[in-house]
Order: sequence, then structure tokens, then C-alpha cells
Amino acid sequence: MHINLYDLTRPQLIELLAGWGYSAYHADKIWHSLYQQQTHTTSAMSDLRPDLQAKLQAKTAIHPLTSQLDTQSSDGFTRKFLLQLPDTHAIETVLMRFEGRKGAPRATACVSTQVGCAMGCVFCATGQMGFTRHLTPGEIVAQVLHVDAILQTGGERLRNIVFMGMGEPLHNYDNVMTAVTILTDHKGLAIAPKHITVSTVGVVPGILQLANDGPPVRLAVSLHGATDAERQKLVPPARRWPLADLMAACRAYTTKRKRRIFFEWTLIENENDTPEQAHALGQLLQGMEAHINLIPLNPTIGYDGEPTHSAAAKQFQTILGQYNLPSTVRQRRGIDIAAGCGQLAAITHSHPTSKQVY
Ligand code: SAH
Ligand code: SF4
Repeated sequence: MHINLYDLTRPQLIELLAGWGYSAYHADKIWHSLYQQQTHTTSAMSDLRPDLQAKLQAKTAIHPLTSQLDTQSSDGFTRKFLLQLPDTHAIETVLMRFEGRKGAPRATACVSTQVGCAMGCVFCATGQMGFTRHLTPGEIVAQVLHVDAILQTGGERLRNIVFMGMGEPLHNYDNVMTAVTILTDHKGLAIAPKHITVSTVGVVPGILQLANDGPPVRLAVSLHGATDAERQKLVPPARRWPLADLMAACRAYTTKRKRRIFFEWTLIENENDTPEQAHALGQLLQGMEAHINLIPLNPTIGYDGEPTHSAAAKQFQTILGQYNLPSTVRQRRGIDIAAGCGQLAAITHSHPTSKQVY
């Protein structure tokens, strides 16, 4: 079995080469080829000693992901890639552009962490498809490299990563954190940890682990309900991790990390957008370092709820303001290419009978 070089952190690569009798100097050269030059084959790493190159070819492989489909939203701000994994499963990765504060575009990659998802949130296309498998660190890293390479052709670099694609990152904790170590390595892509956001449905042990010994990434927690009864209707794992436990883990995170948490709330008309839920949310988060992102529901085939209208969203925000809680209603982006939050399902045109998300 060949080792995928994208699976290794730099210290792991150094260790691998040390085992073969090569110094860290050689490992750094390979690392530079992988992440600065984006070389896709070891044979193209021309400045390596031939004996090392032969060893690499015998023992390792590099697995970039091939794009099966590349779609651009009509407003030009969102681009979605259907990427094929070595075992032929497919995942989706999204490149989003926002106007930065100084007018310069800010590029963000929305990255997947699993093929499907085991959490089963009722309104999410990924949840509706069920769980197939975890992604390896290298498969997570390769998505970022794919997006960065595309940006580089236009003279841009990737600055931000959000783990908000397919899957639940904290259900695949070790692989996601290894990928974070690789992506933030100062001799590689050098993405700043504060420019990486891990979004979780509320996997309490994962939040505690992140608080205790995780990298200094940002944390987003998807709430969607401010009472256990409401949350359990939408988010099945809420039965395993009730709000009391979830909020205790969130407080542990803000205390240890001295960072605010982003709370995500998908606004569904007449479901969780009522003044009662807004007040319950205000009480739940009052006094916490928090920012609430309100996301009007994006359509998926398996759920027939409607998105909250802007007037009701505004009212929801006003109530949160009474508890001194800042919030933003997210702009809907990439809906025409099913690249919005919760719409990723990796549907290929060769599977016309699979779920459509338009
Ligand atoms: N599993 C993680 C990250 C991926 S989902 C999580 O749940 O946080 C990314 C975000 O999209 C989450 O906040 C999720 O609740 C939201 N989302 C899922 N389906 C959606 C939909 N149909 N419309 C709007 N947001 C949705
Ligand atoms: Fe999984 Fe997140 Fe979708 Fe829930 S919202 S099913 S946790 S990807």
C-alpha cells in the first residue's frame, strides 16, 4: 500500500525519510514541492537525489483530486467542484468570493470532511444521503490544493477555509485536525489558524477536545433550536447531546480559548423562526461571547420547509439584539448551482436517479 504524501504532516514526512536514512533537508524539499509548487508527481520533483526519488516512487503516491464537474453561479461569486476520490466516491468543494473590507476579494474554500454524513439533520442534503465514510487527511488537504491552484491561475491565493462542506468535522476529529496541521504549516500553504473555521452540529466530546488541546481555529456550532424539543425535531444528535451539555462544552471552549463562538441557525418559516425561539435563544446565549449567523433555509429535495422571509428574520434579529447578541443574516449564495449551505450531495450527471437538490 502506497503512502499518500498528502496524508503526512511535515514532522511525519521527516520521520518517514529519517527511517530511510535521509535528513530533514530532503523532507523540506519534498514539502516545498508539494505545497509551494503544487507538484503532482514525485518524478517531477527534479531537484531530489535519484535514489530518494526511486524510494518515493516505490513507497508513496500523491493523490490530487480530479474535477468531474465545475459549475459557476450566475452571480459569479460561487464555484462548486465535484471531486473524485481515489476509490471513485465523490465529494463537493465550494469556492466562495466575498468583497473584503478594503474592496479586495476574499476567497474562501468550503471543504468536505466526510462522504455523506451520519448526523441526519432533516433539512440537509448531505444528511439525507446518509454516511459512507470519513475522508482521510490527504483527501481534505487535496480539496484545498485544488481550490488554491485555481486561484493561483488568477494571481490570487486562498486565505480562508471553512469546514462546512459535506460531513461533520468533529465526527472525523483526528483526520480533520491532521489536515489542519498540514494546511497551517508555515513552510507549506501557511493558512492562519484564525482563518480556519470548524463547524459542528454539536458533537460535545469533539468540542471539549478542541477546547483542551486543539489548534487555535475558529468554532461554529449549528444550533437551529433553543429548546431540546425544537432542536431534536431538526437535529437527531441533539438527543445524544442535550443543550445543557452542549452549552457547558461551548462555555469550556470560550473560557479556555478566549474566543467567541459562531452559532449557526437555519431559519425555517413557522418552525424555528418564532419570537418564542428567538427569546429562548437569547436566554441560552446571554452573556456569552457569541455571534449568531442566521441562514434562511436553502431548498433540498428531502425536506419541504420554507425559508423565513426577510421581515421575520429581521424581527428574530431584533429580539436577539435585546439580549445584546450580535447576529448577521447570511446572504444566500450559489443556490442556482446547489452550492448553498446544506445543499451538497455530490450528485453526478451519470446518476440521474439520485436525489436532485434543485
Ligand atoms: N456538519 C457541520 C458542517 C457542515 S453543514 C454542521 O452541521 O455544522 C454547514 C452548515 O449548513 C450548518 O450550519 C448547517 O446547519 C447548515 N445547513 C444544512 N442544511 C441547510 C439548509 N438546507 N439550508 C441552510 N443551511 C443549512
Ligand atoms: Fe451533517 Fe451538518 Fe448536514 Fe447535519 S447539517 S447532516 S451535521 S452536514
